Amino acid sequence: MRQSKLFTKTRREAPADEVAKNAQLLVRAGYIHKEMAGVYDFLPLGLLALNKIITIIREEMNAIGGEEVLLSTLQDPEAWKKSGRWDDTVVDIWFKTQLKNGSELGLGNTHEEALTTLMREQIASYKDLPRYVYQFQNKFRNETRAKSGIMRTREFIMKDLYSFSQDETSHTEFYEQAAAAYEKIFERAGIGAKTYRTFASGGSFSKYSHEYQTVCDAGEDTIYVDEAKRIAVNKEVYDDPDVYAATGIDKAGLKEKKAIEVGNIFTLGTRFSEALGLSFKNVAGESKSVFMGSYGIGPARLMGTIVELMSDDKGLVWPASVAPFAVHLVSLGKDGDEITKTADALYDDLIKAGVEVLYDDRDARAGEKFADSDLLGMPKRIVVGKDAVATGEFEVVDRATGAVAKKTRAELLVR
Ligand code: ATP
Ligand code: MG
Repeated sequence: MRQSKLFTKTRREAPADEVAKNAQLLVRAGYIHKEMAGVYDFLPLGLLALNKIITIIREEMNAIGGEEVLLSTLQDPEAWKKSGRWDDTVVDIWFKTQLKNGSELGLGNTHEEALTTLMREQIASYKDLPRYVYQFQNKFRNETRAKSGIMRTREFIMKDLYSFSQDETSHTEFYEQAAAAYEKIFERAGIGAKTYRTFASGGSFSKYSHEYQTVCDAGEDTIYVDEAKRIAVNKEVYDDPDVYAATGIDKAGLKEKKAIEVGNIFTLGTRFSEALGLSFKNVAGESKSVFMGSYGIGPARLMGTIVELMSDDKGLVWPASVAPFAVHLVSLGKDGDEITKTADALYDDLIKAGVEVLYDDRDARAGEKFADSDLLGMPKRIVVGKDAVATGEFEVVDRATGAVAKKTRAELLVR
């Protein structure tokens, strides 16, 4: 993409009312726009990064047998009344609205009710199980605190997967596959080393659920980490002796850390299938409630976490797997000169070689271009100036380390 065609502009200053580092940098770099408190728009570069994250998650969900759907945001109160979650005193983050005739509708904040109801038409026998259904879908939550930029917003895309199994044994088998898939996702997104499987309270069915918590000072949560075992416990279960018996970790050796919950996995059991009447006939012909689990990740929260962890005082620093473009090609040429011709040709060659390139072809000062390039944060910057034209070697700067290498055109084109 030619930067001269990109409609977004960079800004030197962060908006005064923006307190979160992730949002300050993403707004300054033109990746997102703040619509109002807790509500952000994704602009071209931001959407490219978000979609890279979504693609990683989708690949890993498909790999464990997930089938993708897209459910509606508008929610029928009837299903929620059956599960007992329509009442504002039970769920305090509802956004509700009305039809013209005055009857109420909800804007979905999660999708257990809708999907469980839908699956009644699809699941009748043990032969229809297991099923793993997921989506990337907008959730609406009237969050009280919205001070963490894109990590906690009132409207956000969630990847939510729901598993439907015959019994607890087959559920647990899938639950562990989902846990392994989550670990791959966080590894691929570049936050694996700092992300811990964390024991949290489990709700009505299982004793514990698992959160994926990424250690970061900007986090809203407090966890206690066993670094050697790579397990953590969250504050809610820290004083529960059973969690130490279950995990074999030693309470005395744990380190308290601030962390961001990037995902979670939850055994629901028959909580929703009983309430909403999702049952099946087992091999013996008996009617049983389907055993369920739910598995969430917020792609934008993950993106914000990457920014919090990896950016520096000059701007964003993307891991290659999430960067909108692999390469930022920066031309220091003026209209029609040799430098510009060389840069144009290299741009065309890189595109042909399948490299994702952002090409700074704008008529601007070198200092401004470098500052913008640092702010935008692509993993590699290739500079085309006088030297490159004279020697045929291009300066390649690694955004994360600052390391500089010289490469020929041929070397740049091998992937
Ligand atoms: P939190 O305790 O941080 O509010 P939660 O327990 O409400 O999270 P879930 O309802 O399980 O989270 O949602 C699944 C995932 O969706 C979370 O792990 C997180 O990645 C993401 N998520 C939750 N709330 C938000 C939000 N307001 N904005 C962005 N992402 C969110
Ligand atoms: Mg929440």
